[in-house]
Amino acid sequence: MISNRQLFLEHVGQTSDFPLSLELERAEGIYMFDKNDKPYIDLISGIGVSNVGHCHPNVVKAVQEQAAKYMHLMVYGEFVQQPQVQLAEAISTTLPDKLSVVFFVNSGSEAVEGALKLAKRYTGRSEIISFNKAYHGSTHGALSVTGDESLKQAYRPLLPQINHLDFNEIGQLSGITQKTAAVIIEPIQGEAGVRPASPSFMAALREKCTETGTLLICDEIQSGFGRTGTFWAFEDYDITPDIIVSAKGMGGGMPLGAFISSAEIMQVLRNNPILGHITTFGGHPVNCAASLACLRTIQEDNLIIEVKKKEALFHKLLVHPSILEIRSKGLMIAVQFDSFERAKAIIDHAIEHGVVTDWFLFCDDSIRIAPPLIITDKEIQQSCAILMNGINATQ
Ligand code: PMP
Repeated sequence: MISNRQLFLEHVGQTSDFPLSLELERAEGIYMFDKNDKPYIDLISGIGVSNVGHCHPNVVKAVQEQAAKYMHLMVYGEFVQQPQVQLAEAISTTLPDKLSVVFFVNSGSEAVEGALKLAKRYTGRSEIISFNKAYHGSTHGALSVTGDESLKQAYRPLLPQINHLDFNEIGQLSGITQKTAAVIIEPIQGEAGVRPASPSFMAALREKCTETGTLLICDEIQSGFGRTGTFWAFEDYDITPDIIVSAKGMGGGMPLGAFISSAEIMQVLRNNPILGHITTFGGHPVNCAASLACLRTIQEDNLIIEVKKKEALFHKLLVHPSILEIRSKGLMIAVQFDSFERAKAIIDHAIEHGVVTDWFLFCDDSIRIAPPLIITDKEIQQSCAILMNGINATQ
């Protein structure tokens, strides 16, 4: 009989020649289980998604209840759908007052597309600035602002008038002018291997954007929904963005994205042309119900309060001469080794021993740690013991 693995390789579009290929049957909390019920600790929340853990009972209940009431009714933006309305309101309470309007889409890349269009439309400008080693997604616009040539070169021409600056280089901010529609930035660069913006850089960036009438877009797709120890990563900086993009952890395991802004900015999508950004499935009611359950779980179970303590425990347990550096912001952590080969050997060893981790798109000598926020101290100890065994075994 043909195995599922063979069918996967033959019939499912592949993204590389070396997929992880684990065949999993179910998942719960921080664990995923294979056919033989072997547990794997999901140390990366697949990737940066399962902030409240896999199949959180509150999320499962919300999905089941909503699926039984109604699923898709109508394209986004026409009908008043309770899960969407309640979620938009709940999200706005996590944000400064002016960021009160949530435009729902299906994914991170699509949220970035919407945000870029919104900024162009609101400012009447077309130049966009982003940063080297930023990752913003895989669609044409999102890829255009991504800051890595190796992912882009085969797909040119991409969007015109995109400029990349070096992250955390205040001197380069003079590149932002009255021609610039928007600057898009990850407050913590994720795929660059967890590189937080410095507070002085963020402050200078905000100031320059305000001075030139440029909109500041914070990409919180990886860093949002509690991951870094605040609900949104930008809260740790003394700034307010003009637009936020969110996805990943937002859906509680279901696909959902959003770009969020003020009523004043967002209203431009309504006319000239009307339907300035549209989507059939954006804000799917089942996914919004899941997201609301996820958001309430993060708030009611006080998951964010523990994040910094758990971050410190990883730092305490992962000490080894081969570890060159640990960069982190909450439970967004990169452990750096001296080469890709070394990191890869440790990752392979960890997976074999029941801990799933990986490396970063633009930082392949570091391994990623981004567990569900619900991970316990004991589970952190268990995970770190397996990682340390891997480090010792692959000397
Ligand atoms: N921005 C950031 C910071 C991301 O990490 C990602 C996904 N890795 C994206 C955008 C794109 O999101 P999606 O894969 O949902 O399109």
